[in-house]
Amino acid sequence: MSTPHPTAAQDPRTALVVFSGGQDSTVCLAWALSRYARVETIGFDYGQRHRVELDCRQQVRTELTRAFPQWGGRLGEDHMLDLGLLGQISDTALTESRAIEMQANGLPNTFVPGRNLLFLNFAAALAYRRGASVLIGGMCETDYSGYPDCRDNTLKALQVAISLGLDSPMTIETPLMWLTKAQTWQLSQDLGGEALNELIIEHTHTCYLGDRSQRHAWGYGCGTCPACQLRQEGYESFRLPA
Ligand code: ZN
Repeated sequence: MSTPHPTAAQDPRTALVVFSGGQDSTVCLAWALSRYARVETIGFDYGQRHRVELDCRQQVRTELTRAFPQWGGRLGEDHMLDLGLLGQISDTALTESRAIEMQANGLPNTFVPGRNLLFLNFAAALAYRRGASVLIGGMCETDYSGYPDCRDNTLKALQVAISLGLDSPMTIETPLMWLTKAQTWQLSQDLGGEALNELIIEHTHTCYLGDRSQRHAWGYGCGTCPACQLRQEGYESFRLPA
């Protein structure tokens, strides 16, 4: 087992991580715990089809605290927000029993319009109340460039709008923005060694269909949906000999 890298100088600010229980947000949570003095998590229940991901959230938090005691002391409260209203304003494959496919506009029909804009605005309102001034999310241009609300420029603009609207500086950190899926596995290895990657494989969930009946080298999932394929390809590329 490799030794985790020494932690960077601790940032005294409190960070709020948008945490779904998936691979990306778990890496973001580990990244935050390695940097910030205090870290809280926020999750959203919007009737998503892969609800099993929500069940993984507490397990991941518990396992992180158990396996990485140096992080456990920094991990604060978890907040779950009910955003069931998203089901009223969207008609997509993530919240209904429809096949996942590409639409004529080039976006997968898993796209809930503006979902991340809404999430980050709710997160900012909570962060303000909790005295946190850093929001952290797993948004990424490298693999999900089809999602315009995950793009770097969108989030930079949102950071400015939120900071102005709250009249208080709010930083949006996106540590995965320019990483490939293989590099995301490498980042978690750098942060917490093989122990963190094993935790991610065993306890995080990515599959759009919510399948946890099949265990692969890269974790649980149906193995065929776009999210599973992305996770599998990233893992296999990460494991390739240099
Ligand atoms: Zn799947």
